[in-house]
This record gives sequence, C-alpha cells and structure tokens, in this order.
Amino acid sequence: MEKLQNYINGALVAPAGGEYFENMAPALGKPYSLIPDSDERDIAAATEAAKAAFPIWSKMSIQERSDILLRIAALIGERSEALAAAESKDNGKPLKLAQTVDIPRAQANFHFYGTGILHFASESHSMGDLAINYTLRQPIGIAGCISPWNLPLYLFSWKIAPALAAGNTVVAKPSEVTPYTAYMLSQICIDAGMPKGVLNIVHGLGPKAGAAIIEHDDIPMISFTGGTATGEWIARTAAPKFKKLSLELGGKNPNIIFADCDFEDMMKTTLRSSFANQGQICLCGSRILIERSLYNRFKEEFVKRVKALKVGDPNDPTTNLGAVVSKPHMEKVLSYVEIAKEEGGTVLAGGKRAAIGGEFSEGYFLEPTVIEGLAHTCRTNQEEIFGPVVTLIPFDTEEEAIMMANSTKYGLASSVWTSDLKRAHRVARELHTGIAWINCWLLRDLRTPFGGVKSSGVGREGGFEALQFFTEPKNVCIKY
Ligand code: NAD
Repeated sequence: MEKLQNYINGALVAPAGGEYFENMAPALGKPYSLIPDSDERDIAAATEAAKAAFPIWSKMSIQERSDILLRIAALIGERSEALAAAESKDNGKPLKLAQTVDIPRAQANFHFYGTGILHFASESHSMGDLAINYTLRQPIGIAGCISPWNLPLYLFSWKIAPALAAGNTVVAKPSEVTPYTAYMLSQICIDAGMPKGVLNIVHGLGPKAGAAIIEHDDIPMISFTGGTATGEWIARTAAPKFKKLSLELGGKNPNIIFADCDFEDMMKTTLRSSFANQGQICLCGSRILIERSLYNRFKEEFVKRVKALKVGDPNDPTTNLGAVVSKPHMEKVLSYVEIAKEEGGTVLAGGKRAAIGGEFSEGYFLEPTVIEGLAHTCRTNQEEIFGPVVTLIPFDTEEEAIMMANSTKYGLASSVWTSDLKRAHRVARELHTGIAWINCWLLRDLRTPFGGVKSSGVGREGGFEALQFFTEPKNVCIKY
C-alpha cells in the first residue's frame, strides 16, 4: 500500500518512529494507503524548520509571498481533477461535490489570500498637533494549523493561506481520517517553489501529533477547526501558555421557515442544507423549525424529495449522497437515530444504513433521515450529530422560533426563510449565531467574518479578520 509522507523542511520524509496506520476509503470500507503515525519528534523537527524559515519568509516582500501563494493556487487548478478524485476517495463524498466545491474552494483560498495580503492595511490615529499613532501588524512566528475531515483541503487551506500570507511559517496537521489531499499539497508546494520550512505538513493522530503542536512552546498561535470537545481541551492546554487561539467548532444549526417564504426555493435549498456532504458540513441545518400553518405541506413535500435522493457510488454524477467518513462515525450517527426513537421521535424517512451492492457493499452509506415529534430540548435536538439526520419541529410564533433556535449550547449558523423584510432583519438580529443566512444557505463571500458563538467557537476567520489573527498589532506613538 502507498505510504504517505510528512512534508518537513521542504522534503517528503517518513515519520521519525517509522510507524504508519491505515487510511480507509469510506465508500469501499477498505484501507488503501498508510498514514504516518507522527509524534512529538516529527512536530519538533517541523517546528525547528519553521523557526529557521521564519526570518526569511517574514522579511520577504509581500509581492514575493503573494506570487508563491498564487502559484500554489494555479497548481491546485491544474491538478484539480486528480485532487477531486483523491478527496472523494478519501472522504466518501460525491466526486461531483469535490469537483465543484472542495477543490475550487481550496484554490480560491490561496488565490484570495495571495491577493488579499496586497490590500491589507493598518490603522493610524492622529492626535491633532500633538502626535500620530500608527499600528504595525507584524507576523508572529509559527502558526499551528489543525483541520477536520469533512472538507479536508478546503478547510486546511482556509487556515494555511492567511497564516502564510501574513508572513508566518506554519506547522499543520490535517485530519488523520482524510490526509490524502494535504499530502498532495506538499508536492504542489515543492513545485511552486515554496522555500523550505515555510510550510510543514505533519500527519498523524490528534491526541499524539496534534497535541504535540498545541503543547509546543515555540508555536505561539493555534488555528483549529474541529469538534467542540477537542476545542475545549485545546483551550485548556493552550491558555496557560498564553497562545493566540482561533477555534471553529461544532454546530446544531437551525433553519427557521416561515409560511410566507418562497416555497420552492426554500425546499430546494433546505434539501441541500440538510444533506450536502452527507450532512457533514458544520453549517448544515439539522433542526428545521417550521411555522405550524406550513408544517404539513412542508413535511409531505420534503419527505417525498428526501426519499428520492440517490445514495451510492460517489463517482456517479447523479449521486446525491456518498458514504459518511468512517465506520465509527456511521455508528455514532445511527446511535442518534436510536436515541431519537427512545425520545419518542418518529422516523419519516431513512434511519438505516443504506445497502449499496457490488464494490460498495462494505461502504459506510446512510439513508438521509428525517425525524419528527421531538421536543426542542431533547438530546437529538441539542447535540451535534453531524450526519444526514434532520428533525422537523413546528412553531407558532416568531418569538417561539427564536427561543428554540437559540436553545442549544451551539451558535454557528442559521437560515431564515421569509418574504417579510422587516421580520428577516428582526430575526437575524435576535439569533445567537455567528452567521445568519436569509433566504439562502452557504452563500459565501470570503471577505466576510466566519465563525461561531457560544460552544461553536472563539474568533473569526475570513477576509481581513484572519490576517488580523495571524499578525500582532503594535501601536507606535510619535510625538510631533
Ligand atoms: P476532531 O475535533 O475530532 O478533529 C479535528 C482535528 O483535530 C483533527 O485533525 C484531529 O486529528 C485533531 N485533534 C484531535 N484531538 C486533538 C488534540 N487533543 N490536540 C490537537 N489536535 C487534535 O473533529 P472532526 O471529527 O475531525 O471534525 C468534525 C467536527 O468539526 C464537527 O464537530 C464539526 O462541526 C466541526 N467543524 C467545524 C467547522 C467550523 O468552521 N466551525 C468546520 C468543519 C467542521
């Protein structure tokens, strides 16, 4: 089986301990490559390389840094077919989704920050005739970047690109569940002429290689996307070391559907927001709150369309849902269907492993699942499932919808469907989420602040917010 390698100090290398573990293809339910089981020695080597590269990279002109990032973006574009195929195989997602979303967005991330850095400016504060203050925004040092498995290259590059653009060097770890496209990115960086040690990609397990990044004294800032429990551990571990932290964590996003919405537009988008990427997008709406006068019409049409979704071969362009990412994850999602039943829920569609024959007979496929009849306070409606499972909940008033939407510990994203402009503004203002979409979902402008509130995270990514995170502001006050 192919052995993936770490990318340290500009070279592809084996892990220090020489140990590997299996990388599974979720649609096949079989291992197909081997992942370096890196440990603190590999993180130490990557950190040394990043430390040595920092003075060179941070002092390079912005234009030179931008050129390299744009070359990486161009190479992602040139290799997009191979990258999309690898992402689909590694993650189980439909190839079409990787071709149209994951890989174009990874390319866009490098392009966006490769150009964004050219426009990044800092403030000045005049004190009239007395003095002038100006803010220097300087690169900090080594950024530790850790990403999850659901949008592998997309989220990995979303951190790495701004960290590098701002002049930092990076020690990064992709998810051990989906490492392949990050491995391919190593070669792209080599081919793009990235100076050695500027970006280091170390593969391995979270509690081992990942924890070594968090604990390393020479890595002063951490950008993490993943689960809330992991984020909590990272916050606890990094706080005594006073590390700068950006945490993008879990969600339990509400879709609030008022009876006056554009029904067809809402229906099409709600299908997508429920089941895109098998429901494994942190922004997916998993609690669908529906105004009672629309409830039966919504339920009938939604369930009909959900039952018509095609689950199966990720390479078939007509497939709507591929495999979920792993066997333990599939089992976790199925366990929530059982919890929902115990809590009194009725399964209206799905609820089981999907039987796909032939080469996919061992794959981790789940039927898209719709459940009703549950209180908004129950576990099914409070805990993140992160799979193709949604619940339907009726509401009577705007106040009740907002109360239920805000009732979880999470606060990442929300969607509101209404044709009443005043209500749209009012509800958006009242929702405890970092992102509120009105009459749309996952419509992204990379310049906007991205992130969650409450247990969904700390800090914002996107636009200049990320460049601010990856730089340290210093005020210089000059007396006239
Ligand atoms: P996870 O927390 O298990 O793992 C995420 C990453 O952290 C992986 O690379 C993993 O190896 C690493 N990790 C695990 N333990 C670690 C430790 N102790 N120290 C350092 N690193 C460690 O999450 P996951 O299962 O890969 O991803 C799913 C979760 O990610 C969901 O909760 C989802 O909502 C969330 N997510 C959030 C966003 C967002 O933008 N808010 C985006 C995508 C996914």
